[in-house]
Amino acid sequence: MMQDEFKNYLTMLQYAGGVLRSMGADRYMLASTSWLTDLQQEIENIIGPDGAYAVFETASKSGGQSASEGASFAALFAGMPLEERVKLVLKYGQLQGWGPHELVEYSPDPFKVVVRSPRPYIGNAYEGKADGPRCYYQVGLANVIQALANMDKRDLTLQFTETKCVAKGDPFCEYTFEAKTGD
Ligand SMILES: [Zn+2]
Repeated sequence: MMQDEFKNYLTMLQYAGGVLRSMGADRYMLASTSWLTDLQQEIENIIGPDGAYAVFETASKSGGQSASEGASFAALFAGMPLEERVKLVLKYGQLQGWGPHELVEYSPDPFKVVVRSPRPYIGNAYEGKADGPRCYYQVGLANVIQALANMDKRDLTLQFTETKCVAKGDPFCEYTFEAKTGD
């Protein structure tokens, strides 16, 4: 079943001119997770975990934004309730190779979403010994969920927090995306 869903997902990608694109917008590529993990750990070695997180936070803003700005992105979610949109984006993430993600809490107003990931690509690299959470890349998901929520003419800015992480020895990773106070 999962293999069939994956094959179906692949039909949504475009390959032209030697370049892979998702939903007609952002350019994609298949990348080794060990390369991504090594890259993150080297950034941490040079500027520390807080600095590394800041790099991912800044870099993810444009990625999350460009992924959600394409016309086909809006068309894909048109007419769906927000909770279903969030579930679908988690499903797409799984098909893209980010691993299984489960929606464990959902509140529309004030907006709050809690997502659990049992097999993050980065978790094993730290062997449970990190001194804090390490799934910095998930801050990009905050930008995508924020775009999904703001399709309903809201003007939310989401705060991303990783409360549990396999990298520091937890059995799974858990991420909270909630509206910043004042929204
Ligand atoms: Zn984690």
